Amino acid sequence: MNTIYIKSNFLYGENFELKKGILVIEDNIIKGFTNENIKNFINYDGIIIPPLINAHTHIGDNVIKDIGINKTLDELVKPPDGLKHKFLNSCDDKTLIYGMLDGMYELYNNGINYFCDFRENGLKGINLFKKSYRELLSSQEQTKILPPNPIILGRPTKTDKTELKQEIKEILKNSNGIGLSGCNEYSDSKLKFIRKETTGIFSIHANEHKGSVEYSKKHHKKTEIERIIDLNLNPNFIIHATHSESHEINLLNEYNIPVVVCPRANSSFNIGLPNIVELLKSNILIGLGTDNFMANSPSIFKEMDFIYKLYHIEPKEILKFATINNAKILGLNNVGLIKEGFKPDFTFIRPNSINIKYSKNIVASIITRCEMGNIDNFNFKYRI
Ligand SMILES: [Zn+2]
Repeated sequence: MNTIYIKSNFLYGENFELKKGILVIEDNIIKGFTNENIKNFINYDGIIIPPLINAHTHIGDNVIKDIGINKTLDELVKPPDGLKHKFLNSCDDKTLIYGMLDGMYELYNNGINYFCDFRENGLKGINLFKKSYRELLSSQEQTKILPPNPIILGRPTKTDKTELKQEIKEILKNSNGIGLSGCNEYSDSKLKFIRKETTGIFSIHANEHKGSVEYSKKHHKKTEIERIIDLNLNPNFIIHATHSESHEINLLNEYNIPVVVCPRANSSFNIGLPNIVELLKSNILIGLGTDNFMANSPSIFKEMDFIYKLYHIEPKEILKFATINNAKILGLNNVGLIKEGFKPDFTFIRPNSINIKYSKNIVASIITRCEMGNIDNFNFKYRI
């Protein structure tokens, strides 16, 4: 049996209780704290928190940061003629690969252990990402970092049914599922077809802005969320739900569909804010993402701070969004808490972090004050 002991300060359990002690890890599973007189422990003087997870990114547009300041969302990202697509199409593969590599370093530097990316451009987009990730892994021995774990959702490009079926098959062989831009780009039968062909995760943007809801009502007599329900798409989770009426929130609850909110990205695009308080009251599983790298930094700390400042939700609840909830939404088993039975996946907050020193509410201080500079590159797996 492989046993590791770590002595530190931990945010333990669902309640994120600050606990000092020696945590026992046996065969890569947390066994709890020990009172035994252990001599050979790894000591960490900072604070160990559950792993931060970013449940929604578009890492491919990292190379065109801030291209669309004060442009409308449609001008920017609507396929196929949005500014984003125009500029990305003019980038060569190498630029895109190294852009994604830098994006992953940025996620790592922000203490993010898992991220779920909506990889665009079919199989080609996935293969470019894979090259980028291989590059990251190949430098691992030298950098001693534990790279963030990607969960990749591909997006099919073909329109012909036979070609589409084959493309989805290839995408699924090389990714974790399918992530669509939104219902408005597809007919009912195409959506049903893609859903039927998808194994693994199926996710879709929905009710992101007023324009997309109005378009959906005009062409389909339903909002995007209503369409998702009526067509029985049964997504593992939807992204945004920025403009959702109470009856849609009830539907999400009834059909048990989690929502990954991205309020900072919504604000960046100037399209309003999701009603996180109502989603929470309706018992919807809420996760957090940061959406496009080009429009928003991938920092989950910034996202949590923003949510606290705007919504005044209990800080522990906000930390749950970014840890255990995101893990559940992405189907990561036994990840997201520091608790017996969970994997020893952690984010490390530096010792002597002056911005949280003197805190009388450590969870509030972590979510509202910590930044990239608080993250430690401490990798205990290299200290054994
Ligand atoms: Zn998105």
